[in-house]
Amino acid sequence: MRAITVVPGEPGRAELDELPAPEPGPGELLVEVVLLGVCGTDLEIVEGVHGEPPEGRERLVLGHELLGRVREAPARSGFAAGDLVAGIVRRPDPVPCPCCARGEWDMCRNGLYTERGIKGRDGYGAELVALEVDYAVAVDPELGELGVLTEPASVLAKAWEQIDRIRDRACAPHGRALVTGAGPIGLLAALMGVQRGFEVHVLDRVSEGIKPRLVRELGAGYHAGSIAELCERTEPDIVVECTGVAELVVDAMQYTAPGAVVCLTGVAPSRTLSVDVGALNNEIVLENDVVFGSVNAARRHFEQATAALKRADPGWLNRLITRRVPLQRWQEALEKGDDDIKVVVELAR
Ligand code: BGC
Repeated sequence: MRAITVVPGEPGRAELDELPAPEPGPGELLVEVVLLGVCGTDLEIVEGVHGEPPEGRERLVLGHELLGRVREAPARSGFAAGDLVAGIVRRPDPVPCPCCARGEWDMCRNGLYTERGIKGRDGYGAELVALEVDYAVAVDPELGELGVLTEPASVLAKAWEQIDRIRDRACAPHGRALVTGAGPIGLLAALMGVQRGFEVHVLDRVSEGIKPRLVRELGAGYHAGSIAELCERTEPDIVVECTGVAELVVDAMQYTAPGAVVCLTGVAPSRTLSVDVGALNNEIVLENDVVFGSVNAARRHFEQATAALKRADPGWLNRLITRRVPLQRWQEALEKGDDDIKVVVELAR
C-alpha cells in the first residue's frame, strides 16, 4: 500500500512510499483512509522543523486529519465494516501523568505523549491504517466526507470549552468574540462562536474572495483593517488567536475589553519584537484579563466537534474544502493558493 512518509528534521525527504499493509492487533480497526486533511503542522514536518519518527526508525508516516471507512472491526467493538471514522491524534504518555491517566492527554504534563503523524507514531497518510478502537471516533454517515473536518474542529471544540470555563469565573459580559485569521482554524472558531450565540468578528489580511464570503455567510463580521481599530470599535471580550503571528498575538492581548479571555491557538517560528511588557502587564492585570494557550483535543472534544459539524450548514462546511488532490499528486496539497481554505488528499474513494 502507498503511504506518505517524511524524515522529521530533514526538509525535502517526503515521498510516496510502498509499505506493507498494517495488520491490526486486538482492539484495533483496519481502516481504509478516504480523505486526509492537510494543515500547517504537516507543512512544518515536511519542511523539517517539526515532528519525530517512531522510536528506532528514520521515517514517519505523515497525516493526522483522518476520515476513514472501517474495513474490519473486532467483535463487540461498537464499530462495523463500512462505518466512517475519524482518528484521535494524541496517545497518553506511558508514565502516565495525572492528566493522561484520566484521558486528558491533550493536557499532558510531562511531554512524553505521542501523536499520530506528528510525534513518535505513524500517522494516517496511508491507504490502510490500523486504528485503536479506543481512539476511533464515529462519524455520522449524514456528515459523510465532511467528517474530514472532525480533527481540526476538535482543536477548536477544546479551545471553546476552555474559554467557556474561564468565562465562568466572573460576570461574563456581552459575548463578543474576535477571531484572528480566516483559515480553517479561524473559520471553525468563528462557526463555534456563532453557534454559542456570540457576536463574532473575524480579522484577516485579504479583503476579498472566499474568506469574507464564508465569514459573512455565518452571520459574522469580516474585517481586513487594523486590530487596534477593530477592537476599539467592537470591544471583544473573547479573542481566539488563530495565526501565531507575533504582532497579532501581542495586539490580541492588548486591545481587549475588561475581563477578556484571550485564547492562543497558533504556533509560529521564533520571532523577536520590541514590546512594552510593563504596559502589557498592566493592561492584563488591571482588566482581569486571562491569556491562555490551547492545543490538541481529548475524546470529548472530538465528540463536541462532530456535534458542532452536524449543527452547521453542510453547504458552508463543503465550501471550506477548497481543493481535493489525488494521493499520487499529494505534494500539491502542500501548496497553498490564495483561495485555499482546507485542502484534502483523496486516498480510497
Ligand atoms: C494538531 C494537534 C497537535 C498539534 C501539535 C496540530 O496540528 O491538530 O492535534 O497536538 O498540531 O503537534
